[in-house]
Amino acid sequence: MDSFDIAIIGAGPAGLFAAIEAASRGAKTLLLERNDEAGKKLLLTGKGRCNFTNAGLTAQNLQEPFGSKGRFLHSGLASCGPKEIRRFFEERGLPSVVERGKRVFPRSGGAETLRDLLVREALKNGVVLRTDLPVRKLQKEGDAIVAAETAEEVHRAKRFIIATGGCSYPATGSRGDGFRWARELGLAIVTPKPAIVPIRTAELWSHRLQGLALRNVTLTLLREGKPIDRRFGEMQFTPFGISGPIAMDLARSVGEALEKDGDITLSIDLKPALDEGKLDGRLIRDFENLKGREFSAVLSGLLPRDLIPTFASLAGIDINRPIHSITREERKKTLSLLKGLTLTPTGLLDFDWALVTSGGISLKELDPRTLRAKRWTNLFFAGEIIDLDGPTGGYNLQICWSTAFLAARAAADQ
Ligand SMILES: Cc1cc2nc3c(=O)[nH]c(=O)nc-3n(C[C@H](O)[C@H](O)[C@H](O)COP(=O)(O)OP(=O)(O)OC[C@H]3O[C@@H](n4cnc5c(N)ncnc54)[C@H](O)[C@@H]3O)c2cc1C
Repeated sequence: MDSFDIAIIGAGPAGLFAAIEAASRGAKTLLLERNDEAGKKLLLTGKGRCNFTNAGLTAQNLQEPFGSKGRFLHSGLASCGPKEIRRFFEERGLPSVVERGKRVFPRSGGAETLRDLLVREALKNGVVLRTDLPVRKLQKEGDAIVAAETAEEVHRAKRFIIATGGCSYPATGSRGDGFRWARELGLAIVTPKPAIVPIRTAELWSHRLQGLALRNVTLTLLREGKPIDRRFGEMQFTPFGISGPIAMDLARSVGEALEKDGDITLSIDLKPALDEGKLDGRLIRDFENLKGREFSAVLSGLLPRDLIPTFASLAGIDINRPIHSITREERKKTLSLLKGLTLTPTGLLDFDWALVTSGGISLKELDPRTLRAKRWTNLFFAGEIIDLDGPTGGYNLQICWSTAFLAARAAADQ
């Protein structure tokens, strides 16, 4: 069997990009993939459009999306940030557009075009891509890795980059294998958990609203009535609770809050642009202008149609009640529900539903400039397998590009 300079395990975005970078630096590169094709998960990204980076991200504002762990990405972002990755795709015929929230998408073609470009580019640079080959085990000698074993083959290489992803969406091939190997090699793992994932809620009325999307609302997480985290944007109801960008982004905080004691609630502000005083003024005017009509006429001007019957029932007011019969207390109840529709989170959905995995190879184990495991001379990591993850908006794929670039550069130059 051929001996390679670099063997990369996992042909997702991180593995593919690392392979291109390593091979373009002259390293004889092998890329091993369990599936019958590369980048299965990549095809699902951005609802098939692939939100592959975020144009607002710079090496200076890493705290915002990634919290305190963001510092680890400083070198990666400085070497291969949103500007560089956009240029990489543009130079190869895939220009991009910036949309709401500085999300970057290919201008045309979407995820499949981007995935195909990566595979083509890898092959063009001489990468040997082997599919249908799940790696079972890493062989070690002293403080180095010497080979990756599949069922029937042993692949030897001078350096190894592990890019097997996390545990989420396991049907796409990422099943936590890299975590198992890392544990066997004595590396610390921050417990992997589902992140960017739908939230379960207790209230049956929320389940009955399945499919209804709310736009421009604020979702707040409260402990003992005090706000601890908040998101603004779009969410939707599901048969078991809530989903959509702001619910999924808040899920990490919800999961952490549920692990501690206390009364945890979620509150939807349906009219975040108006404070209570202004909204009450608006209700008073609407009640006056529509006084010959029914309660539903007031709600029609304020809420999506499908929410109106549930909202009226939560307010305890019949939608057919004449407006002139509604009391001040009932108006105040309407106001408080518009500013805070309360839900009780009971848990998060599992890895099958999570867009990313939080946790992974502890950052303490890795050199942030090379992504090499400090206690192994020739073992590198890239992508979601590392204990780094961000919110929706292209941040998670940017982690892949930045870490893959550094790992491949260091492995090729070693
Ligand atoms: C539905 C969905 C939508 C998403 N949308 C976006 C988006 O728009 N923007 C964004 O930034 N992020 C998005 N993400 C997250 C993003 O897709 C991931 O963060 C990213 O794919 C991680 O890349 P990776 O290369 O580290 O791992 P993966 O993409 O998981 O790839 C790992 C690869 O390793 C292979 N592998 C695993 N074990 C073995 C083994 N033992 N032997 C050989 N091969 C192995 C797997 O088969 C897989 O191909 C989305 C995720 C999902 C599920």
